[in-house]
Amino acid sequence: MQFIDLKAQYSALKREIDAAIQTVLDEGQFISGKQVEELEQQISEYLNVEHVIACANGTDALQLLYMAYGIGEGDAVFCPDITFIASIEPAAMLGAVPVFCDVSPDSFNLCPESLERQIKAVINEGSLRPSAVVVVDFLGNPADYGELGKVCDKYGLLLIEDAAQSFGASYNGKMCGSMGDSAITSFFPAKPLGCYGDGGAVMTNAGEIAELCRSLRVHGKGKSKYDNVRIGVNSRLDTLQAAILQVKLKALKEYELERRQIIAARYDEAFKGMFNLVDVSSGCVSAYAQYALLAGSAKERGSILARLEAAGIPSMVYYPNPLHTLEAFEGVQAYGETFSVSADYCKRTFSLPMHPYLGAEEQDKIIRAVLEAAE
Ligand SMILES: *Cc1c(COP(=O)(O)O)cnc(C)c1O
Repeated sequence: MQFIDLKAQYSALKREIDAAIQTVLDEGQFISGKQVEELEQQISEYLNVEHVIACANGTDALQLLYMAYGIGEGDAVFCPDITFIASIEPAAMLGAVPVFCDVSPDSFNLCPESLERQIKAVINEGSLRPSAVVVVDFLGNPADYGELGKVCDKYGLLLIEDAAQSFGASYNGKMCGSMGDSAITSFFPAKPLGCYGDGGAVMTNAGEIAELCRSLRVHGKGKSKYDNVRIGVNSRLDTLQAAILQVKLKALKEYELERRQIIAARYDEAFKGMFNLVDVSSGCVSAYAQYALLAGSAKERGSILARLEAAGIPSMVYYPNPLHTLEAFEGVQAYGETFSVSADYCKRTFSLPMHPYLGAEEQDKIIRAVLEAAE
């Protein structure tokens, strides 16, 4: 059994994916082929966002945005304590200071109260300019944009949505990847919309930010590639990846997202009362990049994971370490935050196989094994 079965997805889409790849080979436009712009247009329509700028990966997409907004020395960028390091790493690389915030005890997304406390602490301390908040839809579950948006408005902070895990998810009918001032996503193979290598995109309704990202993506180009008007990077999405993504986007819209909902509902039903579940707010649809549960304790998780392994059921821990504990962030100030929820989550969480091609029998086997392992 696979944790995320990309081979099963390929089997299902093989005819269309092979044809899409063959077309690129025949056309020979491996960089900036027409499929890249077509994909940007299709994503723009699906997410209902004006500009989509495809690039080399999700981390670069964040870097392009941080650069476009001029984030750097002297800026404080607020970030949930549970996410992949890539949410904040490019901001730190540009010289900004990460300020970690705790997560909410039901959704495990960025906690609006902790965010506001941290903003106030940074203002009181006085040496940094509170500039931006990177909001992550953790596990594919939309964050609390109502409350987080109010806090950002109150203190005049940019809200950047990291939708790397939430392609296809929605918040009160609005698609993830279209929230806040600007957003990014990732097409890493294991994400809800993944390619066959690295890929990512910036999404924004702000025309001037889109224009900057398009320039920064190709060495700070001006009117042409050799008319460089600023220092940029090389971060394009390959034509081959764009062609593959066009096929996969169609499958996601037609049935993959729906299948994730059905599997998650079955898991929820089987495990409620036995484990803490991750709460998806009413009005929200999760993309279920991961299906996570919380064991009663670190010790209980250890024994469950060992029993699942013995039963041949793959599992993962996303994430074992809150960001504030990573060596890379040694010396980063806590501003009084104790991170009690994130620390507890990281000790107890584990994730089960979740992908649109997980059959009913496999689901039964997983559910039985988890219930037995928890006895
Ligand atoms: C995967 C991921 C990224 C980075 O995407 P890459 O395409 O791997 O660079 C950023 N943020 C989050 C939350 C992610 O899960």
